[in-house]
Amino acid sequence: MRALTALLLACFAASTVAAERAPDVVLRGELTGKDNHTYREVPFEVPAGTKRITIDVSYTGREQRTTIDLGLLGPGGFAEQDGFRGWSGGSKHRFTVSATDATASFLPGEIWPGRWRLLLGIPNIRPTSTASFTADVWFSNDDEGFGPEHGLSAPLKTTAGWYRGDLHMHTAHSDGGCLNASGTAKVPCPLFLTVVSAAKRGLDFIAISEHNTMSQVSEMRELQPYFDTMLMIPAREITTFEGHANLFGVSRPLDFRLGSPSVPDWNALTADVAKAHGLISINHPRRPNDETCMGCGFTPSKPVNMHGFQAIEAINGRDPERPETGIPFWEKQLNAGVRITGIGGGDSHDGSDGARDEFAGVIGVPTTVVRADALSMDGILDGIRAGHVFVDTEGTKDRMLEVTATAAGAGANAGAEAHMGDALRVAKGRQVHVAVTTAAVTGMRAIATLDGKRLSSTPIAADNTASLDWKSDGKSHWLRIDIRDATGKLILLGNPIYLNQPSP
Ligand SMILES: [Zn+2]
Ligand SMILES: [Zn+2]
Repeated sequence: MRALTALLLACFAASTVAAERAPDVVLRGELTGKDNHTYREVPFEVPAGTKRITIDVSYTGREQRTTIDLGLLGPGGFAEQDGFRGWSGGSKHRFTVSATDATASFLPGEIWPGRWRLLLGIPNIRPTSTASFTADVWFSNDDEGFGPEHGLSAPLKTTAGWYRGDLHMHTAHSDGGCLNASGTAKVPCPLFLTVVSAAKRGLDFIAISEHNTMSQVSEMRELQPYFDTMLMIPAREITTFEGHANLFGVSRPLDFRLGSPSVPDWNALTADVAKAHGLISINHPRRPNDETCMGCGFTPSKPVNMHGFQAIEAINGRDPERPETGIPFWEKQLNAGVRITGIGGGDSHDGSDGARDEFAGVIGVPTTVVRADALSMDGILDGIRAGHVFVDTEGTKDRMLEVTATAAGAGANAGAEAHMGDALRVAKGRQVHVAVTTAAVTGMRAIATLDGKRLSSTPIAADNTASLDWKSDGKSHWLRIDIRDATGKLILLGNPIYLNQPSP
C-alpha cells in the first residue's frame, strides 16, 4: 500500500492549492491605554451587489495581555433590524456573514450596501501599552461559490492524494430522521449525528446535500473546526418533479422550480449552475418517478443538453447492480460522446450506519474516491470534474484502483499516458497498454469495458497488478476498468479513459 501511494504521488506532481485573493479593503488602527474598557466602531463601505462579507482581524500586544473583542454592525442602528449582526468576543479572528449562512456568533441576513462597522471592544489594554490592529475585509458577489477566503475552512491537507468520501446525505435540514434520545419517537435527525457517523467511518470528506435548501451551512461552519480531519462540502440536492441532481460548492439560492417561467427546463437550471461555478451531478437517474419515489427518476419533459452536467451518480446506496442502478444511464451518455464523471452517493437519511428503507443508504456506502491536489473543496470538486475518480461499492478504507493507459510504439505521441478521466490519442493500428494497479482486492478480476461492452477479464496478480493491450482503430472510444470479485460482484467502479476523443 505504501509503495502504491508513493507511485501514485510520483505520477501526479503536487500542485498548488487555490490561494486566497487579496482583501478588498484593509482597515487599520492603533490603540493605547486610554482605550481600555471602551468600544470603537471602525467603518467601511459595502458596495452594492455584495452578498457576503468576510473579515479577518489580527492585532499586536497579546504578550502584554491586550485583548480585542469583535462584533459587526450593519448600516442600521444597533437596535434596528439588520443593525446588529453578531458578537464573537475574543473567540474568533475570522468570520463570514451572508444572506444564507454565517459563522457561529454571527447572524445571516440581507447584506445591505452602505456603511457597516466592525465593532471592537477592548476589555484589556495596560495604561502604558500600545497595539495596532488590521482587519482584512472581503466582499463576494452572487455568483461566487465558497472561495478560499470565505470557505468553510482552510484546506485540511495540502498534499495531492486519493481521498475517500460520501457525496450524498440528508439530515434534519431536509428529510433525515431518527429516533429521539429516549427512543420513543422519530424526529428530524440532528446534523451533528450524521457528521459523527461519517467521521467514525474515517471518511476524508462529506457533502451534506439537503433537498433544495442550504440552511445546514451555518451548522457545518460550526462543526468543521472540530472535525479537523474530515472536509465538509456544502451541497444541496436540487429536487424537482423531473429528477434530482446534487449541486456542490454554491452558496447562493438557486431556483429549482423546473417548468416555471424563471427555470423553464433543465438547460436553464444548468446554465444558472455554470454561472455560479458549481458542479452538478444527476442523482439516481433510473429510480422510479411515481408514487413510490416522487420526482426521483431523471425524467426531463424537454430535451436536455447533457454537457451541462459534470457527473452522474452511477451508484446510489447499497446495491450497485439492482435494476435501478445508474450505470447503464451513465454509459449511454458516454456512448453519446459526453465526458461525464461517474460518482457514488450513500443517500443516508437517518444519521447513522443503519438504513431507513430500501432506497435510503448508509453513510459511506458507496464511497467515492477522488484523486485531488488537496483535501479542500476546490481540490475535491476539481478532481471530480477531471474524472479522477473511482467508486468503492462497499465503502472500505483501503481498496484502490489506478489505471494508466500508454500509447505504445514509436513516433508521434509514443509514450503518452492517460489516467482515469484523461484523454489519449492513439493512431490506427497502434497498441495501447493499460496498466492496472490495485490494493486490497486479492483474488479478484479487472474487467475492461469498451463503449459499454465487455472487452476482457483479467485476474489481479499477486503483486496487485493487471494489464491488457488493445489495438487502436483510430476512432473515438471510452475504456473503463472495474474490479469484480470471484462471484462477479462489482467491487470498484472505475472512470473511463477517453481514446481519440477531443478534450472538453
Ligand atoms: Zn434524491
Ligand atoms: Zn438524496
